Amino acid sequence: MALLITDDCTNCDACVPECPNTAISMGDEYYEIDPEKCTECVGAFDEPQCMEVCPPECILPDPEHKETRTQLQTKFNALKA
Ligand code: SF4
Ligand code: SF4
Repeated sequence: MALLITDDCTNCDACVPECPNTAISMGDEYYEIDPEKCTECVGAFDEPQCMEVCPPECILPDPEHKETRTQLQTKFNALKA
């Protein structure tokens, strides 16, 4: 499942350099996660790195992008191919 950033984001920028897939970028008002690139960090780290560094804890699972671990690994492999 990809993750999403809620409007509690303070645009602090802490999560951006932590993403192994460069999935996080500035949106219209606050940062956004590209669901085509987010693998929940599967393939690179044991835990979602962005969630670990986010001060207001505004990064959550995106219910509209449910994926299995196998699908996330396949996505990661394709991104790195
Ligand atoms: Fe990037 Fe990992 Fe956060 Fe997804 S969970 S946006 S891959 S840091
Ligand atoms: Fe927004 Fe959290 Fe990323 Fe900071 S770490 S930019 S508050 S999502």
